[in-house]
Amino acid sequence: MTTVVGIDLGTTNSALAYVNTYGKPEVIPNSEGERITPSVVFFDGDLVIVGQTALEAAVTHPQAVVAGIKRQMGKGEFSYTAPSGQGYSPEQISAFILKKLKQDAEQTLGPLSDCVITVPAYFDDLRRRATIAAGELAGWKVLHVLNEPTAAAVCYGLTQAGLDQTLLVYDLGGGTFDVTVLKVVGSSVIVLATGGNPLLGGRDFDQLLVDHCREAFIEQTGVDPSDDPSTHNDWLRRVERAKRDLSQRQRTSVALSGGGHTTRIDLTRAQFEASASALLAETLDLCEETLSECRLGWQDLDLVLLVGGSTRMPMVTQLITGLTGKPPHTPVNPDEAVALGAALTAVSEAIRQHPEAVKSLNGMTETMALRLGGRTRIEDVTSHSLGILAYVGPHAIHDILVPKNTPVPVEIKRQYKTQYDNQVSLEVPILQGEATDPALCVRLGELRIEGLPPRPEGAPVQVTMRYTRDGTVEVEALDIQANKQARARIDRSKQGLDPRQLAQAQVEMAHLQVE
Ligand code: AMP
Repeated sequence: MTTVVGIDLGTTNSALAYVNTYGKPEVIPNSEGERITPSVVFFDGDLVIVGQTALEAAVTHPQAVVAGIKRQMGKGEFSYTAPSGQGYSPEQISAFILKKLKQDAEQTLGPLSDCVITVPAYFDDLRRRATIAAGELAGWKVLHVLNEPTAAAVCYGLTQAGLDQTLLVYDLGGGTFDVTVLKVVGSSVIVLATGGNPLLGGRDFDQLLVDHCREAFIEQTGVDPSDDPSTHNDWLRRVERAKRDLSQRQRTSVALSGGGHTTRIDLTRAQFEASASALLAETLDLCEETLSECRLGWQDLDLVLLVGGSTRMPMVTQLITGLTGKPPHTPVNPDEAVALGAALTAVSEAIRQHPEAVKSLNGMTETMALRLGGRTRIEDVTSHSLGILAYVGPHAIHDILVPKNTPVPVEIKRQYKTQYDNQVSLEVPILQGEATDPALCVRLGELRIEGLPPRPEGAPVQVTMRYTRDGTVEVEALDIQANKQARARIDRSKQGLDPRQLAQAQVEMAHLQVE
């Protein structure tokens, strides 16, 4: 029997789910019995510890703990140096998290290999590839990289409702806020626009409470111990718990120690909500920006889906209800919706890629696996535009081949021509971004063809760009007369450079001219 699972690899927390014998997705608790695992890694000498213990170690060993590594994914220049002196890439650190999820789930489910991992809809090719690399390093076979809001829509059964719906997914997690406007048409999920702030999340709400407590602590004890990193981390942990309390009741209190004093500070929901109004307003602005990008307003939405642990704060539901006139869709566990949707998608992906697996998938009957697979099959669209650097006369432009929001998989071919007489080599930089100015785009890599015969300018070159279902990119350039071809390679060493420098460095190279 093959068991396939879905993984929500989050900035703050991660979760793993699978579809059980009855066709129902469920979260598998980790070895500590928790349904979500903090995405935190602690380098304790030779040991690498992931999860709650690592989170707690941030208090005592802040230098040996890495949190929020998802923000660094795909950044070639980032490296974390552990106290042992050993350096780790973001992929390696994420792999530790994915390995813990795997080992823990295997205790319940037996040996595992195939999974679907979710990523934010705005993740570009580099970050998607980095996510796949992290999965492989951890011993997973990554069947598919799935957009988180799409996973949430799948979890809610929106792709099987047989309705055309426009929805906004409001995902407020621990460290990030993502907003995605989606259209569900039958079983297709089309991302219309994405927005958000990668540095806005539950942590900012925690910080508001820490600030409040700091003032109260000084008032009550006359000392300010909050500059000490251990005290700060300890306070953060305690106020985070108090914040959760305030989602349940109107008031709570938190005991805080520092500088030789201990005191208890009262907190009320009303005061917390008042202090958080600017943060909430920012999420609202980001939603409206994203809606206006696809020329929609709140009144055009069929529903708003809440995802992420921070949407448990009652002020979020109130905000959305006030704007749309109806309550949002809130699952019982908003922090599990993405993992559950990924688990369902893992079934349809496994059947799509290995039709023979349907006979023994997750212990389900073949009929059930097929029914489920059919219901959760989805189509995604690209979240960024992709093109190449080419010339129009003397001007370098980003010539977009695959525009943002194109359904994937997609293959686009376009004809170019050589730029100079006797151009014996070709350099085709691959760009991602919405601007036509190449200096404002991200360079994903380049194609190079050498050893071309000398000819007058204008020799035809065909560029083919393919966007796979995982959101990864393949590019080919074919010099038609010379019958020489090159395929894209993602040059990791260049990822850290400022795109402006890259564009500058291009000028002397042998490029293509737009036809
Ligand atoms: P996620 O990244 O989706 O797991 O969300 C984690 C964030 O959700 C953290 O900032 C938590 O503090 C926050 N969170 C979880 N439960 C609650 C709750 N009951 N009330 C407020 N925030 C919560």
